Amino acid sequence: MTHHDLHSDFVVVGGGLAGVCAAVAAARNGARVILVQDRSVLGGNASSEIRMHVVGADVHGRRPGARESGLIEEFRLEDACRNPQRSYAQWDLLLYEKVMAEPNVTLLLDTDCTGCAIETVDGLRCIRSVTAVRQSTEDTFTLHAPLFADCSGDGRLGVEAGAEFTMGREAKADFGEDLALDVADRHTLGSSIMFTARRHGTPQPFETPAWARPFDATAFRLRPIEGYDYGYWWLEWGGQHDTLKDNPAIRHELLRIALGVWGYVKNSGRYPESAPWALDWIGALPGKRESRRFLGPHVLTQQELQAGTVFPDTVAYGGWPLDLHPPEGIDAPNEPPCRHILLPHLYGIPLRALCSRNVGNLFFAGRNISATHVAFASTRVMATCAVMGQAIGTAAALGRNATDGPIAAHFTGAALQQLQQRLLRDDAFLPGIRHEDSADLARGARVTASSETALGPAAQVTDGWTRELRSDFGPWADGNTHRWESATLPATLTLTWTEPVQIAEIHLTFDSGFTRELTLSASEAANRRIIRGPQPELVRDFELLLDGVVVAQVAGNRLRKRVQRLPQAQHARELTLRVSATHGIDHARVFEIRVYSTAS
Ligand SMILES: Cc1cc2nc3c(=O)[nH]c(=O)nc-3n(C[C@H](O)[C@H](O)[C@H](O)COP(=O)(O)OP(=O)(O)OC[C@H]3O[C@@H](n4cnc5c(N)ncnc54)[C@H](O)[C@@H]3O)c2cc1C
Repeated sequence: MTHHDLHSDFVVVGGGLAGVCAAVAAARNGARVILVQDRSVLGGNASSEIRMHVVGADVHGRRPGARESGLIEEFRLEDACRNPQRSYAQWDLLLYEKVMAEPNVTLLLDTDCTGCAIETVDGLRCIRSVTAVRQSTEDTFTLHAPLFADCSGDGRLGVEAGAEFTMGREAKADFGEDLALDVADRHTLGSSIMFTARRHGTPQPFETPAWARPFDATAFRLRPIEGYDYGYWWLEWGGQHDTLKDNPAIRHELLRIALGVWGYVKNSGRYPESAPWALDWIGALPGKRESRRFLGPHVLTQQELQAGTVFPDTVAYGGWPLDLHPPEGIDAPNEPPCRHILLPHLYGIPLRALCSRNVGNLFFAGRNISATHVAFASTRVMATCAVMGQAIGTAAALGRNATDGPIAAHFTGAALQQLQQRLLRDDAFLPGIRHEDSADLARGARVTASSETALGPAAQVTDGWTRELRSDFGPWADGNTHRWESATLPATLTLTWTEPVQIAEIHLTFDSGFTRELTLSASEAANRRIIRGPQPELVRDFELLLDGVVVAQVAGNRLRKRVQRLPQAQHARELTLRVSATHGIDHARVFEIRVYSTAS
């Protein structure tokens, strides 16, 4: 073995969507990051190894407008354009490209976090370094940093650091949750093995292996077999066991179940339309829904989610239903495979649920955050995990010079406000929190447009909100569109200042169609609602002019958030955005323009 000592500002363990977003956000905000991922691909349960589609607060498009912005939107928009064929390998590569594009990130693939060194300062545990091993190259690593994040799902770093955690389902008495059990237990949601199948032109026989589980119709009374292309998420099992220690046995049983169900589909005679379908891919790894949940200064609860709580330290949000499953999965044939309890509003996720309560410099994001089992049933979905990741990555970048002490305590007052405002600048959405960045010169400009509609007055581009605030989002949502909408194309929007201002960077936030779902899904049924290509609302071709002179020309834009840095700062009294084309609609839609005098 060869040993390496590496130094950075922030070490992230786990390269699922939470870890990828944490690493990219921290790097883009100036921190040097090491991302440690035990697999050869990034994406965790969203990767080609497991193939779960990423969902979130818009509930598969059933809560229009609530789709997550920020990094996950950037990834989804690019994936839709570059991967219309819906290849999971392409999605893996997009995540890889996003990470590799950050000069501040050192990516250690095929590398396991195996431990850490701890020091106790004033009674508080602090991680000083992480140990990691890459068996394939016979390398070991000591990774030094002031701040660390456990985004590993299972929580290996946290447990090595002695971070307090819980596992299983609480009792009603623990947090007053009426969806909790009468008596607590150690059970979790189960794991699943996904598969995909392909339609051929001829009948495709399937020989059910002798070791597959036998099934009869009673198993499917509450688990209907609809479609053949994308397995069945309810092929779930193992929550009554230890999803960590018993994982090999769970995998074997899940393979038996998956092959047995497919054998039933193909050979029971009940599904004759399945004749031309053949298995194409079957997962080798169980997709794990739940294992450890760490304890932070705050534990999110059912009541907070159902009340749509917005916390003073909200840094992320969710909105997926409370999605509870019987731990026995398919072995509970008389229970529905899930209970979906819809949430009336979006809810905030406080930074205090993303930090350890007893390890001062440890963040979490993903399925292992500080939430009860019932609250976790909503927070666990991957777009929610991604926005948590962006939040802690940004916090790590801003807090990397904080002195020893609980990191959550560092983010109060001005530091907290700075974090929330930075997240908004980077296109995150925080329920009830408006853009109030005093450095944004656009806020002092007069806004006019070549045309505007009643729904989209031009002045809304500087009103501090970057999406339509539909009233079902929460009591703080005013129902306004918060965007400029021109009547026709081409169209211009102009910001005018009374005195010339120095302009180095212009931020534009376009409409990317939050009224629709947008995700990569192997399911044909889910994909019917999704546009795999540029989103039609997006501004495609535009120019920026300072005092009438073109300073930037963009053709073929397909992103929601664009940051245009000028080659050098210039003084001007007037900034004009001239939109000549969109990807489909007949008018321009812009949510926000920001103007900064220095480059970020
Ligand atoms: C069958 C199934 C269906 C689901 N359905 C959906 C759905 O439709 N949509 C949705 O959004 N969510 C769904 N979920 C939930 C979601 O997939 C998880 O909650 C989510 O993956 C959590 O993200 P994460 O980044 O925390 O963890 P993960 O996606 O598990 O990523 C963690 C990563 O860390 C790595 N890692 C672990 N230990 C170490 C270590 N010691 N060192 C280095 N790396 C390590 C892992 O290999 C993994 O790549 C489903 C889950 C399952 C299992």
